[in-house]
Amino acid sequence: MTNHEESDRPVPGRRVFCNRTLNLRAIRAVGFDMDYTLVHYRTEAWEERAYEHARQRLLALGWPLADAVFDPELATLGLVFDTESGNLVKADRFGYVKRAMHGTRMLSFEEQRQVYAGVLVDLAEPRFRLMSTLFALSEACLYAQTVDLFDARRLPGIMGYGGLYDKVRRSLDAVHAEGELKAEIIAAPATFVEADPALALTLKDLRAAGKKVLLITNSDWAYTQAMMGLVFGAAPDASRGWRTLFDMVIVSARKPEFFSQPNPLFEVVSPEGLLRPAAGGLAAGGVYWGGDAATVEKHLGLSGAEILYVGDHIFSDVHVSKSLLRWRTALVVREIEDEVAALAAFQGEQRALDGLMHDKEAIERRYTRLRLELLRREGGYDGVSEASAAALKEELQALRAELSEMDDKIAPLARRASELANPRWGLLMRAGNDKSLLARQIERYADIYTSRVSNLGACTPFAYLRAPRGSLPHDMDADRGSVEAATGE
Ligand code: IMP
Ligand code: MG
Repeated sequence: MTNHEESDRPVPGRRVFCNRTLNLRAIRAVGFDMDYTLVHYRTEAWEERAYEHARQRLLALGWPLADAVFDPELATLGLVFDTESGNLVKADRFGYVKRAMHGTRMLSFEEQRQVYAGVLVDLAEPRFRLMSTLFALSEACLYAQTVDLFDARRLPGIMGYGGLYDKVRRSLDAVHAEGELKAEIIAAPATFVEADPALALTLKDLRAAGKKVLLITNSDWAYTQAMMGLVFGAAPDASRGWRTLFDMVIVSARKPEFFSQPNPLFEVVSPEGLLRPAAGGLAAGGVYWGGDAATVEKHLGLSGAEILYVGDHIFSDVHVSKSLLRWRTALVVREIEDEVAALAAFQGEQRALDGLMHDKEAIERRYTRLRLELLRREGGYDGVSEASAAALKEELQALRAELSEMDDKIAPLARRASELANPRWGLLMRAGNDKSLLARQIERYADIYTSRVSNLGACTPFAYLRAPRGSLPHDMDADRGSVEAATGE
């Protein structure tokens, strides 16, 4: 093998990760979501403003939030609101709760066990709401803080954690729908938007390679126009500006319904956003308001497997388009860059931890065998009843001491591993030793995932993205196989 291998590979955090093999050559149209997909926001700044607007609304209702401030570390993408208990939880891929926070207080292991002993997080139940996008960070912070107020009986009129959640949700809904917050963002773009210089070229490459490039966003026309103008600057054709990058633009798309049901379609006929019913359907180069995915498929003359949709919302962008229409899907998760960096920095300690766990398992195996042997001797049912148990007991005691010594070494490393990326919640995609619920959702619904759209550009429109061979518990890992073969175990 030559070394083209590594030299032209992007750094690990910028790679495109593949759950299900995807041949980009077979993709004929690529649809892009806008917010947190083509436009990346400085989350802390954006969410602080969203939080602030919602807090003002609640203050106006008399809620005692005068001293409350936004804490960007309090929650992460992929946590689940348990609206019945006033908690935020992190679950593993099976739905078992691995960590929980009531209000702003982390529950102890014992408390968590009591609350969730018989409960699995099932996202089909209305009780549970997944934090599916970074826009949920302000909501999570406000909910956690108001749960504390509710517990202190400082929110008269609120009857329970569910009602409280609805109230907080509605206040943030209103903040997003009304113009004030968006006007602030538009007025100070450098504060809120992180531009990616490679983005325009990525879109141009896709079009030059013969793919239709679409923008399909839930944002309204005024905001879309402002953000796209800002991100792409003055594009080649001054009269149409950034629109020359797209074959078609659809705003106010109302995803996820966009993927599931027919919606009225309007054409945006002036820069001010004047609408006219699009009686003739979609046309190349147009800007539309509303509509639905079936109309898009029909216009393009393509089936689901030929269309790739790229978005950041695990439910609205990826789950629904995949489940209902079998579109190919790409999820943009910016945090992957930090997660991969945190994993790389921890590599040395991870190796030490793996080594210790390997040794511990060997001692445990010996320990369990000796215990059984002791049981048999003491029970006298294996025919060697007269044999002395004393030596066995001594060895067992020594092994127990050894295990406890190992645990003392393992515990701080395991704790550090669980605090990577976020001290409260750890890595997005992991829950303990297992995959997180978020990782499971991504695996099910996103064919590929990556930290930003321009990473797709780096892998070219011709890439054949292969999923790695899936690992199974009964796979022999080379190392272990040889150890066990050598020891005859
Ligand atoms: P997209 O990601 O490009 O489809 O656009 C997302 C749009 O939805 C943005 O305009 C957001 O302001 C808006 N949005 C995000 N969260 C909420 C919400 O909770 N309620 C209403 N609108 C939201
Ligand atoms: Mg989005």
